[in-house]
Amino acid sequence: MTIEINNEETDAIGVRFTQVSQHIEQLTRQYQRAAGDVKLLAVSKTKPLSSIRAAYALGQKAFGENYVQEAVDKYHALSDLTDIEWHFIGPIQSNKSRAIAETMDWVHSVDREKIARRLSEQRGASLPPLNVCIQVNISGEESKSGIPLAELDAMVALVTSLPNLSLRGLMAIPAPQENHAAQCAVYAPLTQAFLALSQSHTSVDTLSIGMSGDLAAAIESGSTLVRVGTAIFGERAHPVNAS
Ligand SMILES: *Cc1c(COP(=O)(O)O)cnc(C)c1O
Repeated sequence: MTIEINNEETDAIGVRFTQVSQHIEQLTRQYQRAAGDVKLLAVSKTKPLSSIRAAYALGQKAFGENYVQEAVDKYHALSDLTDIEWHFIGPIQSNKSRAIAETMDWVHSVDREKIARRLSEQRGASLPPLNVCIQVNISGEESKSGIPLAELDAMVALVTSLPNLSLRGLMAIPAPQENHAAQCAVYAPLTQAFLALSQSHTSVDTLSIGMSGDLAAAIESGSTLVRVGTAIFGERAHPVNAS
C-alpha cells in the first residue's frame, strides 16, 4: 500500500514538474530572455525525502529549504545524490549559522552583517566558498527580512571582503501586488541594482525573484532563478512557522 501511495505521489510530481518547467520555458521565450537563463529552484520545505528523490529523478538538482534543522536533516539523508545542490532561503538566527555554513551550497537570505561574518568564519576550509545572495526588502515596512536598497553598497562591500563567501546576487520576496504591472513596478529598482552589480562584480549572476504567483513578472524583470514549491510538490500540509 505504501508503495502505491509513493507511486501516485511520484506521478503527480512528474506531471506538475513538467508543467512548471514548460511554463518557465514559455515565459523565457515570451520575454525574450536567452534560453536557459531562468533556472528553477525547487522549494521542498516540509516535503518528504521521497518527493525530493522524485524531482531529482526527473533531472532537478537545486532544492530550496527554509528551516535549518529540516535542511540539515535532508542534506544528510540524501547524501547519496552526489550533485544535488542545497539552497537555504529562510530567515537565519545567528545560533543556526554554523549548521548552514557547514552544509548548504547557497544562502539567499543574507541580510545582516553579523550573519555574513559568521557564515564566512564557519564555512569549513575544505569546502568551496558559500554562494550568497543578499536579500533586499523592496516592499517597505511590510517585510521584516531584507536590507533596504540604500544599504546595498555597504553590504556588498562587506560580503565581498569575506574570504569564504562568494557574492552571487540578490534575492527578494515582495509583498503580493494586484497585477502583473504592479509586480513589475515593484521589481524595477531591484532589477536596476542587479544589473549595476553584475557589471561591477564578475561573480554576480543571480537574481533570485519569482514565486508561483508572480513568475511572469519576475521573468520579465530579469529573474535568473525562480523559487517554486507548491506548484511542483503540492500544497503544504501544515502552516509554516519560522524556525
Ligand atoms: C516557500 C517559499 C517559496 C515557494 O513558495 P510556494 O508558494 O510553495 O511556491 C519561495 N521562496 C521562499 C523564500 C519561500 O519561503
